[in-house]
Amino acid sequence: MIPIFDGHNDTLLNLVSPLLDKKWDFLSKNEVGHIDLIRAREGGLYGGIFSINVPNQRNLHEDNSPPVIRFTNNGYEMDLVPQIDHEYAKNYTDKILQRLSNLVKKSNGNLHIIKHFHTLKTDFTQKLLSIILHFEGAEMIRKDLQNLEVYYKKGLRALGPVWSRPNAFGYGVPFKFPHTSDIGPGLTSNGKKLVQKCNELGIIVDLAHLNMKGFIDVVKLSTDPLVVSHTGVYNLCRATRNITDKQIDMIGDSNGIIGIYFDPINLLLKSMPDKNMSLSVIIDHIEYIVQRIGIDHVGFGSDFDGADMPNKIRDASSFPNLIQALKEKGYTKSSIEKIAYKNWFRILKTTWRNN
Ligand SMILES: [Zn+2]
Repeated sequence: MIPIFDGHNDTLLNLVSPLLDKKWDFLSKNEVGHIDLIRAREGGLYGGIFSINVPNQRNLHEDNSPPVIRFTNNGYEMDLVPQIDHEYAKNYTDKILQRLSNLVKKSNGNLHIIKHFHTLKTDFTQKLLSIILHFEGAEMIRKDLQNLEVYYKKGLRALGPVWSRPNAFGYGVPFKFPHTSDIGPGLTSNGKKLVQKCNELGIIVDLAHLNMKGFIDVVKLSTDPLVVSHTGVYNLCRATRNITDKQIDMIGDSNGIIGIYFDPINLLLKSMPDKNMSLSVIIDHIEYIVQRIGIDHVGFGSDFDGADMPNKIRDASSFPNLIQALKEKGYTKSSIEKIAYKNWFRILKTTWRNN
């Protein structure tokens, strides 16, 4: 089985979700959610970037999900999600980190929070599950960046300055179709300092959910390979969350990576999501990147536990279906290995300072 490293999931939110079945347990096999230890093993998923995306405050007591998408005649739109407070975001993050640390202790060595590339490599060959800690939206980071290093010591190794809402560091991209991500201003001065500090510490700066002006600001500032952990190709599906040819080229020039997500709403040419979407749609987005900038710059960024999945890849145990679809498309074993984990490994190894 070809092992998988996945560039993005929201599974850690399940550790505090009031919505989930009380019996949900990451170390057992569950019916709900997309990733747990058992289904990850079944699919060959041995490592991934596990994100903390603090939910909208307004909805917290009813529902963890963001405001609803409105379908229009030829697409969909959703307002930019309101700002959240720093203290609230910090408490929420710390609660997840506490529960994650308990979970790791309970896992009998099957689960690790990875802080060094060499540990990831060893754990991966031993088929343990490696968790790379990521913040999707930096609201838990103080504006003066005082606590960034504290989180780095706890394992933070990747960070998106914004989710799809404004914060002290920049402006996320609102969800919209058809529209480019060229909506709103770029990074704030604090956001620019955040990117520089991440470069210094060796934290991956993730450009997913950033609007075009913010993206260009990072291109100008960052000294590391550019990373978009979960996105799609704008030319194949004209959604704000997807990236244009110009952006794809800049990522290629920086020796960076694009993680392709599996969520039908941002991959199909039409506005209404289709659960019965064929896996060939995901392959088309991968193939587009390969044709344009080469096999070294694309990987998976599933968005498991953060979006609706197509039936053909309904959870982590379904990764072999996607590998099979790549084989059928004519990809060789060595090309598939690059997409499945080697490209992500190169990015982690180059960006982290403490290999
Ligand atoms: Zn996301």
